Amino acid sequence: MINEWDLSQTNLYRLTGREIEVAVLPLGAIEPHNQHLPEGMDWFHTTHIAREICKRAWEKSNNILCLPSIPYGVDCNLMDFPITIHVSQATLDLMIQDIVFSLYQHGIQKIVLFNGHGGNDFTPLIRQLQCDLDVHLFLCNWWRVGMDKYKEIFEKPDDHAGEFETSIALALFPELVELEKAGSGEVRPFRFEALNKGWVQTSRRFSRMNDNCAAGNPAGASAEKGKKYLEIVINRMTDFLVQLAQDQIDMNFPHIK
Ligand SMILES: [Zn+2]
Repeated sequence: MINEWDLSQTNLYRLTGREIEVAVLPLGAIEPHNQHLPEGMDWFHTTHIAREICKRAWEKSNNILCLPSIPYGVDCNLMDFPITIHVSQATLDLMIQDIVFSLYQHGIQKIVLFNGHGGNDFTPLIRQLQCDLDVHLFLCNWWRVGMDKYKEIFEKPDDHAGEFETSIALALFPELVELEKAGSGEVRPFRFEALNKGWVQTSRRFSRMNDNCAAGNPAGASAEKGKKYLEIVINRMTDFLVQLAQDQIDMNFPHIK
């Protein structure tokens, strides 16, 4: 069966004359996640969720397209681990800019960047593109969508490859999880109070935190917890896509009229 919401599956016949309102571009990374999760983790989960929300949104509003995902992300701070692939933010931004220009030429003005990797930062690009072109870009860092429910589902905070991310992997691709290989994910704290308290931020070189390339303990992870969180994200983002697809761009968009 051809999924018409999937740009890579649909065809010229089906696209001709169809007005597409919203395009979703999933963005991942190829990097280690502790010892037990696949290198393609961020690419896999982000692609899965983006496809699911587009599929569900299409059933209510058949003018939404899911673009093929970009697997690579910004990972220069994880390069001490094999075999991390780093693509600079500037390169990613240029590629996204070209994709957005293409979409704009086809009359698509509402574009959702669906990001699954914490090292990617598209806010400056969005600010600039919206000044340069008559488009509306929206950024979803999907792991944040259900944060208000996080403590109801998970016991421990997760920064990278801990209880949360392992639960997501167990829910989506359990066959790729080798839980018995996992390290504790315990992080060497900063030597400065201002950094530990969050008054001051830096970019962390992961190999200085521990030798697992992790920040968060995977113990306690389960497929059930992952499914619960995913359902929240998928429901909320499906609703957003439908609303976005059915709304008109006017003078005050995306603010109320
Ligand atoms: Zn990740």
